Amino acid sequence: MKFGETFMEYLHGEQDKFLHKCSHVEYKRLKKVLKKCRTCKSLSESCKTEQQGDKEEEEEEDCMCEYQSCPVCDQMFFSELMKEASDIAGCFSSRARSLLQLHVPTGKLRFLFGVRRCFKDEQALKDEGSMLIEYITMNEIAIRKILKKYDKVHCSVNGKNFKSKMKAEHIELLRSPWLMELGAFLLNFNKLDGGEFSESSGHFSCDFNASLSVMTLTLANSIKLEFDLTCAICLDTVYNPYALSCGHLFCKSCACSAASVLIFQGLKTASPDSKCPICREVGVYANAIHMLELDLLLKKRLKEYWKERMSGERAERVKQSKEYWDLQTQYAIGY
Ligand SMILES: [Zn+2]
Ligand SMILES: [Zn+2]
Ligand SMILES: [Zn+2]
Repeated sequence: MKFGETFMEYLHGEQDKFLHKCSHVEYKRLKKVLKKCRTCKSLSESCKTEQQGDKEEEEEEDCMCEYQSCPVCDQMFFSELMKEASDIAGCFSSRARSLLQLHVPTGKLRFLFGVRRCFKDEQALKDEGSMLIEYITMNEIAIRKILKKYDKVHCSVNGKNFKSKMKAEHIELLRSPWLMELGAFLLNFNKLDGGEFSESSGHFSCDFNASLSVMTLTLANSIKLEFDLTCAICLDTVYNPYALSCGHLFCKSCACSAASVLIFQGLKTASPDSKCPICREVGVYANAIHMLELDLLLKKRLKEYWKERMSGERAERVKQSKEYWDLQTQYAIGY
């Protein structure tokens, strides 16, 4: 079956209700735009044959630069796609966020009670998690396909370049930290049932490899995602992880020291000028995501390591706050 049909079937299938409130890639409409633009294609083909007579070796190069932008569809095509992608990314993160909040009301509560306080039954939560993963995957495939088609019709690399633009805007769908959280969330459920470590539902599977600290998510169309769970600062498996807005993952304590704030003050207090230690982007601390599901997964799978890191962080926190208050009293007393 052609992807266009598969996608339509997905949009109007069982998950109709779920998808109702979410935006999706207007695959059909974008395809129509490209179809109208076949004039471009015939032009580019005629340019190919013309050149064959002229200079054969430069054929491909020449053709590419001549059609670097398409007056017929560029404006509409890319702005539309950018808007759709950012809507989808937004919809995905807000729904994932609220689903996971149902699962664990707040981080503190979870550690206090040590039990899952579900307001929906577990199966329903799990199903919604799977639906969200499918949602993001289907739309990602649609974007990849339509961009490929664009490049084919225009004989350009604009479609490819557009992907890097999406990355820069942080709307690259499969790079969302929430996808990592959902994967961890499903794995956490699995452990509860006393089942295998790998989770399989028709469309995807996820897997945690403790020796490498990698979480693997295998999606439809053989898209395989590997999430490296190593912190680039301490070079160990992340503990109490936070994902910065650029998507990079660090231990809370490491991120705090990188942003020159104390652990008890938290990442929100970081200066807007603080940079991500990996990509040097600024302003990435204020909306950092606390990866609670991932932390829970590591707590269960790497018990000893997790405990060790917990007492390490606690000791560091106490030391930092003692130094902080000593300094405050010195100022107050004035010596
Ligand atoms: Zn065109
Ligand atoms: Zn670290
Ligand atoms: Zn970064």
